[in-house]
Amino acid sequence: MKISVSHIQDKPFSLHAEEPADAFPVLSRMQAEGECTFNGPVVSDITAAREYDHVRVSGRVSTPVTLVCSRCLANYETAFDSSFTIYFRKGTSQDIVEEEETELDEQDLVSATYSGDEIDLAHEIEEQVAMELPLKPLCSEECKGLCPDCGTDLNHSACSCPRGQTSLKFSALKDFKVSR
Ligand SMILES: [Zn+2]
Ligand SMILES: [Zn+2]
Repeated sequence: MKISVSHIQDKPFSLHAEEPADAFPVLSRMQAEGECTFNGPVVSDITAAREYDHVRVSGRVSTPVTLVCSRCLANYETAFDSSFTIYFRKGTSQDIVEEEETELDEQDLVSATYSGDEIDLAHEIEEQVAMELPLKPLCSEECKGLCPDCGTDLNHSACSCPRGQTSLKFSALKDFKVSR
């Protein structure tokens, strides 16, 4: 998705786009590597405005996904949804190579450069979506996971494996070491 800077006049310039996840290299790689499955288009609502010497681009990207729970290994459906603001300054092509992304606070304030008349947002959009992928996806905060001994999904049924034995053994060993 590209914004022509000369199209941004006194009023902010808004655009809405829906693009398949496959159109973004980072996202199609995430899907190919099984990190998630995209269930619909990446929806972007972007507003660009001129401010002093820069262009302020703010927006929201969202897309429905299926993730695999890291505890019980079940698929679950959720959505990635991210709001962002990026300040684009006009720079030389060398600046772009050395582009520095600075996170100032939780709001994901990022500054970037553009050259010519065009701001290409494709990379920023895919980065925003990719950032939403949790390190340890969970189908629910309360997910009980799988039994480490027999593999039963403890969300659906119980098993008869003894609980807590491993940690008991471990603490006995620890006591032994301390008393030496
Ligand atoms: Zn789970
Ligand atoms: Zn078990």
